[in-house]
Amino acid sequence: MYRLFLITALLVLFYYLLRRAMRKVRDGSGDVSLREGQTPGKQMIQDPVCRVFVPRENAIRQEIGGQTYFFCSQNCATTFERKLTSQQPE
Ligand SMILES: [Zn+2]
Repeated sequence: MYRLFLITALLVLFYYLLRRAMRKVRDGSGDVSLREGQTPGKQMIQDPVCRVFVPRENAIRQEIGGQTYFFCSQNCATTFERKLTSQQPE
């Protein structure tokens, strides 16, 4: 009976490790770049304009409309800002 518990615990642990590894490989399958994650350290973010992945520390940080976005280059940031502001009628 004790053994069963141990095996279950190992399976759960393995599952978590696998999920973490999967997330590392295909980081940013969601809208990671649109939200500022709270996890510190190295994190890959996706440029919402050209869909390129950049390390967050190397990315261009731009605050648009109170939200923080990350881009691979200043060019993409400008493109995104222009697109966003043109979408908002005012
Ligand atoms: Zn870009």
